[in-house]
Amino acid sequence: MLTDIKSMYEDELKEEFAKLGEPSYRAAQVYKWLHSGVKSFDEMTNIPKTLRQKLVENYYISYAAIEKKLISDYDDTKKYLFSFADGEAVESVLMSYHHGYTSCISTQVGCKMGCTFCATGKSGFSRNLTASEMLAQLQTEQSDNNIRISNIVLMGMGEPLDNFDNVVRFLHLVSSEHGMNIGMRHISLSTCGLVPRIYELADMKLQLTLSVSLHAPNNQIRSRTMPVNRRYDIDELLKACRYYFRQTGRRISFEYAMIDGVNDSDSCARELASRLTGMSCHVNLIPVNTVSGTGYKKSKRDRMKNFIAILEKSGITATVRRTLGSDINASCGQLRRSVIDGSVEKGDKS
Ligand code: SAH
Ligand code: SF4
Repeated sequence: MLTDIKSMYEDELKEEFAKLGEPSYRAAQVYKWLHSGVKSFDEMTNIPKTLRQKLVENYYISYAAIEKKLISDYDDTKKYLFSFADGEAVESVLMSYHHGYTSCISTQVGCKMGCTFCATGKSGFSRNLTASEMLAQLQTEQSDNNIRISNIVLMGMGEPLDNFDNVVRFLHLVSSEHGMNIGMRHISLSTCGLVPRIYELADMKLQLTLSVSLHAPNNQIRSRTMPVNRRYDIDELLKACRYYFRQTGRRISFEYAMIDGVNDSDSCARELASRLTGMSCHVNLIPVNTVSGTGYKKSKRDRMKNFIAILEKSGITATVRRTLGSDINASCGQLRRSVIDGSVEKGDKS
């Protein structure tokens, strides 16, 4: 069995190399090559051939191959379908903002959480991604566009906190000095609310932004659209969010997908405001992306305006998220689904 070398910390690589009878500076050189995005050991030109041969015999380098790429006509957003060595595929979206490139990557192939509005949730779960497969998505995007990514959001397919160890490993690798060196402050992790894991993450005191997919002001609505709420309800979730803020000093970002007639009434806005009052947070309202088979429609623009006005009157900052790449099904899970079973209509123009 070959070992996944790109998921190893630099220190772990040094220990491995010591076992192979190699000096630690060689491990440092290999680490740099791996994080620069090479696909093979042959590309490591300053590594002696004999060592390269030993590496080939013991390790493999994860790589994300481009299966499909869609480019938005409206903006510079690019959506990728990547495949890994075993043929499993995930989506990732590269967005261009004035301050640089942001990549939205996947953390699992599919998802177990089953949110009713989500294309990924509808496709079921296949497997966790390794840390190196998360890195590989960024690396392929960088080389395909000849750019450097400066911000990362873990908002693609999968529930990051359901793949906790690999995600934490990825976070340390991607922010490491000799790796891509992207600071934690430039990374957001989005979760549907796995409460015990939020506590665990909070205690690590990383400077990550925690983005919490709330999508409802009460348990009745939330349990209907997000089954995870039956395990950890809103009160428990918000308590964990307050703890995260106390431990890290990082303001929580709440995601709220506006679904016509489901969670977008004035009374929903008032209920949400009363729950969030006094919290250091920000609310992102997103018109729900239409996924076929869900029957959900996005809220009208005026409805969203009223909703924001009510939140703001209570002192809660809220913005409507600019939806990039809306013509290319940029909301995750949709492209893979359309490729696999043709069930997603092309385009979702708003
Ligand atoms: N599993 C994590 C992260 C991946 S989903 C989570 O749920 O937070 C990334 C974001 O997309 C989440 O906020 C999720 O609720 C949202 N989302 C999923 N389907 C959507 C849809 N059809 N329209 C708008 N947002 C959606
Ligand atoms: Fe999973 Fe997030 Fe989709 Fe829910 S919204 S099914 S947690 S990917």
